[in-house]
Amino acid sequence: MIVHYVAVLLLVGVALPASCLAHSTMTKNLKVLVSSNDFPASGLKVLEEHFTVLQTKYLNFGEEGRTLAKEDLLKLIPGCSALVWSSNLPISKELLDRAGPQLKLVATVSAGYNHCNLDELRARGIKLSNTPNVLSSAVAEIAVGLMLGAARRFTENLEQVHKGEWEIGFDKVLGQDIRGSTVGIVGLGGIGQAVVKRLAGFEVDKFIYSGHREKPEGKALGAEFVTQDQLLERSDFIVLAVPLTNETRHMINKDTLAKMKSNAILINIGRGDLVDQDALYDALKNKQIYGAGLDVTTPEPLPKDHKLLTLPNLFVLPHIGSATVRTRSDMGVLAANNVVNALTGKALITPVNL
Ligand code: NAP
Repeated sequence: MIVHYVAVLLLVGVALPASCLAHSTMTKNLKVLVSSNDFPASGLKVLEEHFTVLQTKYLNFGEEGRTLAKEDLLKLIPGCSALVWSSNLPISKELLDRAGPQLKLVATVSAGYNHCNLDELRARGIKLSNTPNVLSSAVAEIAVGLMLGAARRFTENLEQVHKGEWEIGFDKVLGQDIRGSTVGIVGLGGIGQAVVKRLAGFEVDKFIYSGHREKPEGKALGAEFVTQDQLLERSDFIVLAVPLTNETRHMINKDTLAKMKSNAILINIGRGDLVDQDALYDALKNKQIYGAGLDVTTPEPLPKDHKLLTLPNLFVLPHIGSATVRTRSDMGVLAANNVVNALTGKALITPVNL
């Protein structure tokens, strides 16, 4: 209970007492590298109270991340004890080699960690932390937004608004209700559960979920545990909220799409590679399923001439699941407090089991 209380204090960034400050002067000789110039100030403040913080002046995303930030990080990392990875780019073996043996922790500022080179971290005994839970509500809100966007045909409707050509009539651009539907959650983890909670007012008829095992949280939420095939066959909305692993890569493919109802709407807030996009394109083009809503794609950004973007029954957002001011700040503080714990001999708040 006390441990939990302290973890909550650290998570919200409560000021530390004098004894801890004395301790923090002892850790000032430890160097922590922050991998991008857009890491939240709230997280930086926590790190700077304890450590000597190095930060690249470049954005570690996209082309700038692949070139300028990459070179800068290689120069900055020797001798660092922790690396705060604020990026969706892969962590290279070269960067870990350059760091030196004192590197104890990689703190990714994300819930997903498929880009974190787990094999190399494991082989070197480097710990990994992530930032789950604090982002679940923000991502779940986007999942609900995608459900509405795909079910109520936002792509077609927005195009009409921009063209100034509205199809007005009692039977025009009719969509589908969430009310009375069966919602299937693939992966009832933090985000999956938050989706169910956020849909509480939508008069959903039935929540079902799949995964490796039945979860007590499922019972508490009134959701039924089913096999993946049952979920695909029964759901009106299918929400993918699983990590990207060798097991889940292309879990939605030609065969699994064929199991879905013709009115099914697929929502992906996990990772782009959960879905075989060519198979999804065919299923949407042929109206084998009703629609889809994606916050994540392969690649990101999706090129503007990508064939998926020609589909009227697809609603796409540019990976904005956790992109709110409060959530990004909470993620930064949680990542920073994981570094504090790792470098002061305490247990990680949100460890990733490697
Ligand atoms: P989480 O709490 O670990 O939940 C993931 C759930 O997936 C677990 O409950 C796990 O339970 C289940 N699962 C794993 N493999 C499965 C499979 N093959 N079939 C069905 N269920 C499976 O993680 P989270 O915080 O909810 O995040 C989930 C993923 O969302 C992250 O890994 C990340 O890739 C993505 N994400 C996206 C955004 C965004 O901006 N769009 C933001 C945050 C996270 P069992 O192993 O017991 O089945």
